[in-house]
Amino acid sequence: MPRINKVEVAKVICTNCEIEHGKNQYYLSRIEGQERMEVCKGCFNDEFKDNYLECLEKYNIPFIKKMWDISENNCGLYLKNITLPQFSKLRWKDSQFENEPELEETNVYQEIVGYLKKEAKKLSGRLVLYNNQGEMNLYISTIKSLKETLDLINKYDWRLMYSEYETSEESGRPTKPLTKQVSVWEQNHENQIRNHKVWNVAEASDNIDSNVLEHLYAMSDDESNSDTQ
Ligand SMILES: [Zn+2]
Repeated sequence: MPRINKVEVAKVICTNCEIEHGKNQYYLSRIEGQERMEVCKGCFNDEFKDNYLECLEKYNIPFIKKMWDISENNCGLYLKNITLPQFSKLRWKDSQFENEPELEETNVYQEIVGYLKKEAKKLSGRLVLYNNQGEMNLYISTIKSLKETLDLINKYDWRLMYSEYETSEESGRPTKPLTKQVSVWEQNHENQIRNHKVWNVAEASDNIDSNVLEHLYAMSDDESNSDTQ
């Protein structure tokens, strides 16, 4: 009968278990010139369970971490997930063993900034200690470390900005001497400003570190008390 003949034509013998299966019992292949795999789904699933990376490489299937994470170790589900248009043309050599760079980077920088801020507070605490003890070598090396740490924070997070300028203390009283004002604020890449603080300084000071330090203390004291502008 023609119908039986048609079914027989559609059947393929698995090169592994050597059992004849219908065509739909074979996954689509990513090997050049091959429409479907030569091993049946059952045999492929077993190989996949044994060592999924070796298996993916052998069958020229890409490993896409993002898709892997949502496929719950389910072979069939993973193969289905990577048929999405952005992955359908990919092969083993195009594997993505990490999630998308920009996503990963954001998390990494948040972690780094958190760590650096703790480090900066620790260093500023040591500065006071070394200053009180008159340990000038330690004091200077700690200032250098603090500056490096702050530079990194500025690079990755809100930047500490600083300016100093001279101003007359009160208008209409010209006999009063000029006073120095020091201003510190934080600014991010979108040029938003927060924690803006202004001090009147009696004496001119060229030491930015002491001002930055002062600001750090102010920040740690004010943490519950937001001063966003
Ligand atoms: Zn088989």
